[in-house]
Amino acid sequence: MKIEMPTTDRRTMLGLTALTAGAAIAAASSPAIAADDAKTMAKPAMTPDQALAKLIDGNRRFVADQIPVADISTKRRLEIAKSQAPFAVLVGCADSRVGPEHLFGGGLGELFIVRTAGNYVDDAGYGSIAYAIAALGTPLIVVLGHERCGAVDAATKLVTNNSQLPPSLTRMVKPILPAVIDARATLGTKTDLVDHAIHMNVRHVVRGLRETSDPILAEPLKAGKVKVVGAYYDLDTGEVDFFDRG
Ligand SMILES: [Zn+2]
Repeated sequence: MKIEMPTTDRRTMLGLTALTAGAAIAAASSPAIAADDAKTMAKPAMTPDQALAKLIDGNRRFVADQIPVADISTKRRLEIAKSQAPFAVLVGCADSRVGPEHLFGGGLGELFIVRTAGNYVDDAGYGSIAYAIAALGTPLIVVLGHERCGAVDAATKLVTNNSQLPPSLTRMVKPILPAVIDARATLGTKTDLVDHAIHMNVRHVVRGLRETSDPILAEPLKAGKVKVVGAYYDLDTGEVDFFDRG
């Protein structure tokens, strides 16, 4: 089976052209979202750096096997039953070993999570991110890749060995191919192409979000109210390395 290589245009890669219109329509068609937007964006609960520090601290506790700090109590559930204000959007892989709330000790109502195999952001994923930013006032977006990612590994095999996949799985790896191609071109003295591609894939997704022309995200980014950072989770140590902080 021959695969048509996707364009490396970042906006097209993230489907941002379609998304811009979709997100704008979603916001405009819902007075409730517009009202929430004004309320939450006027008084952000945390700065992007405070949100990042909270994630770093949560991961430190996770690595140290400390008592779970995640608040999943009845009291907390009732506190947020009618509204939410998550402090971070997590774009992560569907892999069963990388549940964001576990890695950061996140409780109910704290993380707004978008997950696909290979932590790719498609149109629906971007719409979800835009909703968190515009309607919930979330100040931080984290794109989280991880060690030994099966989706990136499959994409790498396809590029290097021209291996074949069933069409449904090809849909999973196709958006990752530009990152693998970039990784192969910049491998240098590194020996682990898959791991380099995992980092590159995170960088691609981060860059696509940072460079979006969609004002719902572009304006708070420019104003410093929102940050997009890239991170890598080590399956062996449990540590999350925020290697791309912009
Ligand atoms: Zn993965």
